[in-house]
Amino acid sequence: MKKNEMEQSWTRMGEEAISGMLEWRLQHPKATLREIVREVYSRLAKMRAKMLEDAAQASESAEWEKGAEEVPVCPSCGAELEKKGIKKRKLQTVGGQEIELKREYGLCPKCGAGIFPPG
Ligand SMILES: [Zn+2]
Repeated sequence: MKKNEMEQSWTRMGEEAISGMLEWRLQHPKATLREIVREVYSRLAKMRAKMLEDAAQASESAEWEKGAEEVPVCPSCGAELEKKGIKKRKLQTVGGQEIELKREYGLCPKCGAGIFPPG
């Protein structure tokens, strides 16, 4: 994802979070502090998950280093990993949102560990 696409996407999400929250507040004039906190958190959590996903996806460490001397090795036993192509990696954020990253994936031929590149 390009910088401009990210910027547009995040800006749109921010605007949606703000206008959605304003609208919710008008519709809930008697909301308690607890309800307001929950509403703000859940709206920001969606945006946070999207930002994390896009920003992490943009990282160069989404792929193993190119070049012969940079063969990834197994952190457990040190054997060279076999590249297994791109796999989806799911992570939970602090707010409980799930984000999905597409990462290159390696498999250790010795101990069978499945490894994503660091970062
Ligand atoms: Zn191993």
